[in-house]
This record gives sequence, C-alpha cells and structure tokens, in this order.
Amino acid sequence: MNNNNNNRPSRPPMTPEQRKAYEARRRAAMQRRAAEQRRIEEKRRRTVLAVITVLTVVVLVSIAAVITAKFLGDAAGKNPATYTFKIGDSREKVAYNDANRGGVLCIDVRSLKDILYLTESSSRTDAVTFTAKSGSRVVFVNGSNIAAVNGQNVSMPVAAVVEDGACSVPLETVSYIFNGISVSVGRSTVTIARNDESIEILAKSRDPLNMIIEFKSDLDKYEEYMNPQGEYRDSFLLLVNKQNPLGESYIPQNLVSLDATYCINESANQLNKYAAEAFTAMLTELWAQTENTYIIGTSGYRSYARQKILFEQNHPGITTPEQAAAQLTDTAFPGYSEHQSGLCIDLIDTRRGGVENYADTGCFTDIRTFEWLKNNAWKFGFVLRYPSDKEDVTGYEYESWHYRYVGRYHAEKMYRSGQTLDQYVASLG
Ligand SMILES: [Zn+2]
Repeated sequence: MNNNNNNRPSRPPMTPEQRKAYEARRRAAMQRRAAEQRRIEEKRRRTVLAVITVLTVVVLVSIAAVITAKFLGDAAGKNPATYTFKIGDSREKVAYNDANRGGVLCIDVRSLKDILYLTESSSRTDAVTFTAKSGSRVVFVNGSNIAAVNGQNVSMPVAAVVEDGACSVPLETVSYIFNGISVSVGRSTVTIARNDESIEILAKSRDPLNMIIEFKSDLDKYEEYMNPQGEYRDSFLLLVNKQNPLGESYIPQNLVSLDATYCINESANQLNKYAAEAFTAMLTELWAQTENTYIIGTSGYRSYARQKILFEQNHPGITTPEQAAAQLTDTAFPGYSEHQSGLCIDLIDTRRGGVENYADTGCFTDIRTFEWLKNNAWKFGFVLRYPSDKEDVTGYEYESWHYRYVGRYHAEKMYRSGQTLDQYVASLG
C-alpha cells in the first residue's frame, strides 16, 4: 500500500513508563493550546467591547452636544427654526437658513414693495431697480455686494441674490438706505414698519439710530406697543405742564394695572395700556442687559383726587396753581401733574429701601443702569421727561426716575434732537 512505510526502520515499542510520560506530555500540550485559545478569545472579546464602548460614548457625547447647542442657541436667541417677517399687516415665515446668509440676516426687497410704495424695473435678468415715489432709486445686482443708490455705491456685508422670485439683500442695508422705516429684530421676528408716508432711498450717514433695533429678550409681542402705528402713532403726545393742566375732571382712557413684577406700589400701578406694555418690555430688557434687577416701577397713574391729597399734605400753604408754579419745582399742583395722564411712571431701586426714598440722582444706585435707560428708553417709546439741563424749559427739577411714554417714532426724534416734550410739541406746530 504505502511503500515508504515499508522502508522506514520500525520504532521499538514503548515501555509502560514511556507511554505514561508520553500521554502526560500530550495532555499538558493540549491544555496549553486550550489555554492559549481562551486567552486569544478573551483578548478579542475585550477589544470588541472596548470599541463598542468608545463608539457608544462618542454617540452619546455627540447627542448631548447637539442638544446643548440647540438649547444654548435657543436661550441666546441665536438659532430659531424660522423667522417671522412682519411687514405692515403681512406675515411671512422664512426658514432660518434662507434668512441667514453667512451669518447676515437678509430680506427679500420685493416683500417691501407695497409698504414702501416701490416700483420695480429691470433691464437685465440678473439685476433689479427699485424706485421710490420721489424718484430716488436703488439697483441690486445678483452676486454683487455693491448696491447703487442714486448712482452712489453702497457696500453690503453679503452679496445680493437676484432671482425670478426674490431679491435678497442684507436687512442692515435695507435699514441703512430706506429712510422713513423702522427695523426691529426680536428673537425670531423681524418687524418692518413705515414711519413716514414719504419713503426716500438714500445712503444715510452711519447713525446708530438708523440701525436695526435688537433686543436681548424676546419682546416680539410688545413691538406694536413700543412702536404704535397708524392712528395710534401720534396719539400719545398729550402735553401736561405748568401752562397746560389736565384739570379736575380728566381721567385717562384705557388704564390697565401693571403686574407686581413691574410695579412695586400697588396703589399706583396703573398706566395706559400702550404705556404699560411698552414699560413691561423696557424693564424686561433693562434687567437682561444691565443685570440690575432692582429697578422697578413705583408710581404710574395718579388721579386728581390723589394728587390733591398728596399736595395738601406737603404744601398746606399753597392754594393756587400760580403760587405753585412760582414756588415749586418738584411738585405739581393738582390737575397739573403729568401722572394724571397715565402715560408716565417713576422708577425706583428697591435697594434704597422704600418708595419715598429717592435720592437726587434718582433711584439709580448704579450709574450704568441710568446711562443705559437714558440712551435706550426711546426704543421702547419712552423719554426722560425732566432732564438736568432743561429745568428752565420744563419748569421742574431734574428727575432721573420719571419716564414718559410717547411711542418710539416720536421718542426717537426727541432723543436725537435733545428736545423735551414741551419743545417737541411746540416744534410740530
Ligand atoms: Zn414722576
């Protein structure tokens, strides 16, 4: 069968001891091999486990990062899913990624045509010209970050996108070149309102008041009160001073009570609805931006009867408005107080210990808060009614705490010009 075997010398048979030793060696070798096999298996199992663990951790960390980013984004107002563009009476939702190009908030100028009375013409498919009623005009070219405003070049932070359906340009540019509108950006809302009937297209000088108003807090629902439109725009200019009393019978319309969060004095917490909503927005933003949450309203509407009681307690010898006008620069005669209008409110810093405790620079223990309010109150429709350098105009001493609601349109003009309400109303004729 197998020839080779036949040629091999035959092995001598093992002795029983030799066989026993041989079997023992064989068993030991088999045990070593089995142990080695188990060791390899165990190593492989550990490697697989380690890989699975690492992958799981990576996935969990990624999920946590996404959730955190989304939460932080929402908290900081960075990443809303959509923006609502409120243009006049129209509302349009635009996806975040369509509204934001390279981190720059953009708007379709075509959506502004109605409210701004713009006409559109085009001699090329990749460019569009918008012309205002007055004849002033702007040209946007697809892919170009230069806008031609009445022949003058205005550079934009990102290029225009001119397509069949839309002409998307930076909101900042719109705010800069269209005169007569206000642009305000909330957390997820962009509000564009026409403030003047005549819209001009012109390259304005860089003026912070022409820039977009942005709030840290979500004040979207207060916008209509901070910046009243239409018939309401001019309806809060009531002038009350030593020459213009309201009289004994005047009671304001539309009074509402401020929540205790915004007014510490529950017996004087009423304001006109518009003033109340705008004041709520102003305090919310003041707290958010200055982190001084001790500032709160203390005295809003005061009736004729209440002012009479207060006045007679404090000035028993003064019985006529003429005497009061001549002798007093810190208190109004009954019927002459602006607080009877329901359009103004006094602030207080609760750290000072009580409603009577205003000091001369006011309730503002923190000058930063006072400066913030002085420079930002107009955005909410309020003005500092009795400034330190206008005592001869107002007839009253400086009152850092007394803010008067007029609406943003007029408040901005008064802030810009430095006029008091007395001067501003006189200038309107
Ligand atoms: Zn006051």
